[in-house]
Amino acid sequence: MSALVEAKGLTKHFRIGRGQIVHAVDDMSLDIHEREIVGLVGESGSGKSTFGKALLGLHDKTAGKVRFDGETLPGRYRPADFQRYASRMQMIFQDPYSSLNPRMTVGEIIGEGLRLHSDLSGAEIRERVHDWLRRVGLEPDHASRYPHEFSGGQRQRVGIARALIMQPQFVVCDEPISALDVSVQAQIVRLLGELKSSMGLTMLFIAHDLSMVRYVSDRMAVMYLGSLIEVGVSDDVFFRPKHPYTELLIGSNPQPDPRIERGRETVAIEGEIPSPVNVGAGCRFAGRCPKVMSVCRTDTPPLFKVRDETGERRVACHLYADGGDTAPSGVQGNGGSNGGGV
Ligand code: ADP
Ligand code: MG
Repeated sequence: MSALVEAKGLTKHFRIGRGQIVHAVDDMSLDIHEREIVGLVGESGSGKSTFGKALLGLHDKTAGKVRFDGETLPGRYRPADFQRYASRMQMIFQDPYSSLNPRMTVGEIIGEGLRLHSDLSGAEIRERVHDWLRRVGLEPDHASRYPHEFSGGQRQRVGIARALIMQPQFVVCDEPISALDVSVQAQIVRLLGELKSSMGLTMLFIAHDLSMVRYVSDRMAVMYLGSLIEVGVSDDVFFRPKHPYTELLIGSNPQPDPRIERGRETVAIEGEIPSPVNVGAGCRFAGRCPKVMSVCRTDTPPLFKVRDETGERRVACHLYADGGDTAPSGVQGNGGSNGGGV
């Protein structure tokens, strides 16, 4: 399986004045293979959205590279680059309430990308919009209505149509269901799954509900405070987590329950996620980790390769550094680099 998207050492910092820097994403390397769904999980504030946006050029990159279909993408997009990549990489956003312009009709919203980035005529665009309304389970005559006339689930269908009408190869779904009622979430996940298969899409599926991510994704990647800390086959990570943070995250994640109020934070791990401003050396989870050792406070663990049941696993934790049959030679002690792509 070849990688369609390869992030190598991808880093995104935000300057927030008085010399303070938010390390939103630090040195993150992750490969996403063709037709694969990689789930990206982690508490709120861990850098998931920033990583997804940096992959798509919606954020300038502070450092590192993204290769897409064999081509290195620009560190900072110019208008022509958006034009060039719009039809190949798209994003589906979390909040179907705020991500749709309330002054545009649904037809205008779905057709906008084609109007901006294709040579199709108005009539051709209208035809494709109608086709896409059907494909996402809405009606062609919904094109003349406005977003406020729709439910949350229907609006997310509009958001999906808006992204997929561009026929992208790669889609970042940024918590596409977390603003929806539990009963609607499954319908949207099913729709995304069907469209993924019929279009041969490759996806990064961001969410904080691990059981949902496990259900939709082939592999699961776990982020903590700007870093990738574990990645492997979804069921392996879900049923046999190795990083102490992943263990806690899975232990604290209740199974979906319709009685749980919508929007309730499902993650409740001891202590607060620390601020990613001016972070120091050592493992970023050390302050909350029940298995912390002295090395954790001084050395940033690279992603160690760990033997697994069904596929390759990488874990950024010193517990796996003694290697033996697990850590690959040359990975140990390379000073905090996240090693090669995964
Ligand atoms: P997640 O999607 O995992 O919740 P984000 O990627 O949104 O996390 O945010 C990661 C960190 O970067 C957070 O601390 C957030 O406050 C910070 N951040 C995100 N966007 C900006 C920005 N435009 N300016 C400054 N800080 C930001
Ligand atoms: Mg986010």
